[in-house]
Amino acid sequence: MKRLILATRNAHKVTELRAILAGAGLDVELVGADAYPEIPDVKETGVTFAENALLKAHALARATGHPAIADDSGLCVDVLSGAPGIFSARWAGRHGDDKANLDLLLAQLSDIADEHRGAHFACAAALALPDGTERVVEGRLEGTLRHEPAGSGGFGYDPVLQPLGESRTCAELTAEEKNAISHRGKAFRALVPVVRELLG
Ligand code: IMP
Repeated sequence: MKRLILATRNAHKVTELRAILAGAGLDVELVGADAYPEIPDVKETGVTFAENALLKAHALARATGHPAIADDSGLCVDVLSGAPGIFSARWAGRHGDDKANLDLLLAQLSDIADEHRGAHFACAAALALPDGTERVVEGRLEGTLRHEPAGSGGFGYDPVLQPLGESRTCAELTAEEKNAISHRGKAFRALVPVVRELLG
């Protein structure tokens, strides 16, 4: 069975992609970056989600000698011209401080009316082979931003993004409901034919 590496230490992402690949009948062994603790994390020096996903996928493919997938994602707010974008995880200054990031964003948008609160989650997913071959696909989840957080599920900006056609925020959806419509779910599903083409 072919080994495929997913450039993440997040076990939920590995489980989600493994289920998508198995559901598509692809006979690959997907492992997370935790299987290679000696390989250091890659600096995300790109200026787009796609560039960062490709950087991570290439680094892991080169270091392991196996095909590698990486994703990069964030929240893009219309009235902020697409910010926080690639800075989503550290919008308030400290990497990964979800509450501070969310509080700052809500404060910045406090005077913005409902009709101007459009935003989307974006995800780029890249597949790289050790020989340098690369592909990248993208997925989006469109929605609007609430004025106050709601819900306790999910992570990051989930409590403020209400998907189009939904009355709940992402943090009020079950994990299955969110995976079915999420930017990452869409990008991972778009990778299936790519994996089939390059590894099949
Ligand atoms: P990463 O690409 O998974 O590291 O995500 C980067 C950042 O984007 C996260 O720290 C969150 O702030 C934000 N983000 C990405 N995807 C989501 C999501 O599905 N829900 C909420 N926030 C997200």
